[in-house]
Amino acid sequence: MLLLRNLIFLIVVLYTFILNTLLFLNKVPSPNSFYFISLTVIISLFIVIELVYTISINKQFQILQRVKEKLELSVKDMKNESVLLEMLTDIIEAFEGEMSLEEVLNNIAESIKKIFKQESVILQLLGETFKKAIIGKPIEITDEILGNVVLKPSPMLINNTSSFPEYNNLAKQGITSFIIAPFHHKRKVIGMIGVFSFEKRVFTLKDLELLRMVSAPTSLLIENADLFEKTKLLSITDALTNIYNRRYFENIFETTVNEVRNSKQPLSVCMADIDHFKHYNDLNGHPAGDYALKKIAEIMRKNIKGSDIVARYGGEEFVIVFPYTTKENAVIVCETIRKKIKDFRFNNEESQPNGDLTISIGIASYPEDGETGQQLLKKADIALYKAKEQGRDCVVTA
Ligand code: GH3
Ligand code: MG
Ligand code: MG
Repeated sequence: MLLLRNLIFLIVVLYTFILNTLLFLNKVPSPNSFYFISLTVIISLFIVIELVYTISINKQFQILQRVKEKLELSVKDMKNESVLLEMLTDIIEAFEGEMSLEEVLNNIAESIKKIFKQESVILQLLGETFKKAIIGKPIEITDEILGNVVLKPSPMLINNTSSFPEYNNLAKQGITSFIIAPFHHKRKVIGMIGVFSFEKRVFTLKDLELLRMVSAPTSLLIENADLFEKTKLLSITDALTNIYNRRYFENIFETTVNEVRNSKQPLSVCMADIDHFKHYNDLNGHPAGDYALKKIAEIMRKNIKGSDIVARYGGEEFVIVFPYTTKENAVIVCETIRKKIKDFRFNNEESQPNGDLTISIGIASYPEDGETGQQLLKKADIALYKAKEQGRDCVVTA
């Protein structure tokens, strides 16, 4: 097009030049109608050509503009894809480490936040714990939303919360738009990832797709972390009674004593042993004995504070640590436990030597009975031995 236009332009200039030269050299008669007509034709032709040329340039410009927009979009996509890749790499790497559930939730939320910089990101688990991680401005996910996630387990994209009565609570919090992708385990919804905007962001299907891509590895990772947490819990729990095992007790006892000693506070520890348990087992069988062990552990667990620690120390022996507790107060708790066990109706307990299934308890306390965990435990054991000597079913202090 440009070539044609320049060619015509050259012809026009040449023609005018020749015409004027001939006129100047008097080779043609003085300006006559032919001269003016030809000039007018030339100028009109020139204007038409320029017009066509401008229109064509304009079209080309528009095409270029569109190409530029497309390129910009694909650069943005590439950027998002590279962040997504980075995010997935983070997630895959997390499989190798032993992360707790909280760490997993936080790490994934942080990764998603890298893409949605202005928005709030929330990872919420459904079920018993309702654990969640929020990065950005805090938001409260209402029951309606969680209900929707469970009932319609497909991704959600809402760009105008105020138009939907069911999202009224979100609109009230200032949330203008959001996207949510649920994640599943064995076809059940176990949680959701949501991105919430307070700044009228218009979410696209691409944004939603991105969340969906993250949700699959997220559920695997959560399952993995959850399993890890359970195994961690199992390794410190006694399988029969569900209270801590001896290994856990030995791990934390000295540290607890040290902490209490440093803060100049008291601590008590008790050793408890079931009375004539061999007799009970021999008479009623091992399963009945196991049931009694479980029940006794349960009574102990239910009658202590959250900061106290009860563990199965051996076969039918238990230990309870009472941090920040004086001997007098530990005696009160131990007496309650002893009475509740005595009062519980165990199967065929009337055949026991003293007509009841009971326990004996020995207590020792810091600072009066010893400085270290070892010393305190030894004193508690001696006190327990005395309780047995005194006829069992009693609490004795060191
Ligand atoms: P004492 O009053 O002097 O403590 O008498 P005891 O019979 O309780 O004491 P002993 O140490 O002679 O017997 C402990 C019994 O505890 C032996 C065993 O049959 C029983 N025992 C230990 N661990 C378990 C267990 O895991 N399950 C069951 N059912 N019994 C257990
Ligand atoms: Mg014993
Ligand atoms: Mg015993």
